[in-house]
Amino acid sequence: MAWFTRQKPSVGAPPAEGERRLRTEGLWQKCEHCGEIIWRKALEDNLQVCPKCAWHFRIDARARLNSLLDDGPCEELDADLVSTDPLGFVDSKSYLERLDAMQQNTCLKDALISVSGKLNGRKVYLCVLELKFIGGSMGAVMGEMITRAIERSIQHRTPLIIVSASGGARMQEGAVSLMQLVKISAALMRLDEARVPFISVLTDPTTGGVTASFAMLGDLNIAEPGAQIGFAGPRVIEQTIRQKLPEGFQTSEFLLAHGFLDAVVKRGEMKAFIGRALDFFVG
Ligand SMILES: [Zn+2]
Repeated sequence: MAWFTRQKPSVGAPPAEGERRLRTEGLWQKCEHCGEIIWRKALEDNLQVCPKCAWHFRIDARARLNSLLDDGPCEELDADLVSTDPLGFVDSKSYLERLDAMQQNTCLKDALISVSGKLNGRKVYLCVLELKFIGGSMGAVMGEMITRAIERSIQHRTPLIIVSASGGARMQEGAVSLMQLVKISAALMRLDEARVPFISVLTDPTTGGVTASFAMLGDLNIAEPGAQIGFAGPRVIEQTIRQKLPEGFQTSEFLLAHGFLDAVVKRGEMKAFIGRALDFFVG
């Protein structure tokens, strides 16, 4: 049984972007963290990081690609894969209707953009999760797209970077989505055996099955400041262990201090940091 099929990729700029611009039209925006009123242009020039308190606003997958790749052509890969709704899942509406609405909103077929491009002049394969597409959740399509990116990395001995932003596995695909954890992890083991570097970048939020698989399997696991990173949510953990959790639990900084991350890197320094890491790994 096929869990995904091919469809003509969507083209053009996503209407969601236009929608967001309309909603937030005006020259000023309030920082959700420090309350400072920021000139919108200053926020854009600063990669959506508050100039006063350095709060990192969430950015979408396309903005993320722009922040990491060199100017010039980049090739989008596997943009035509779509889920076949293997379970025939229906909640408040059918999964197929939900997918259709998301595809219209984002101009993506699923919650991931996979490209080959250049970072500081070096060829890389780069996968970026799109949180706006059903919470960046991982189903069969994301599993297949990431696995193909890994296989290309092995074949061409080219570094792989995955930028995560996800609520975890996609419940509308049930066990099929859970199988993607295994599929991707097995492919990453082959990448490791081939000694090709994989850098995982965790952004706000990275949780559930994505944390439990590829997001934590990088040769380097690096995160943006202040990102929420975890498996289960804090309320579930508190109810299970019946203990109060420490301050800042599940933030990038807390995870770094407890050995779960290799670095916390500001958005404006991320590209240079990854470039230096790849120089070190590949030479
Ligand atoms: Zn601020």
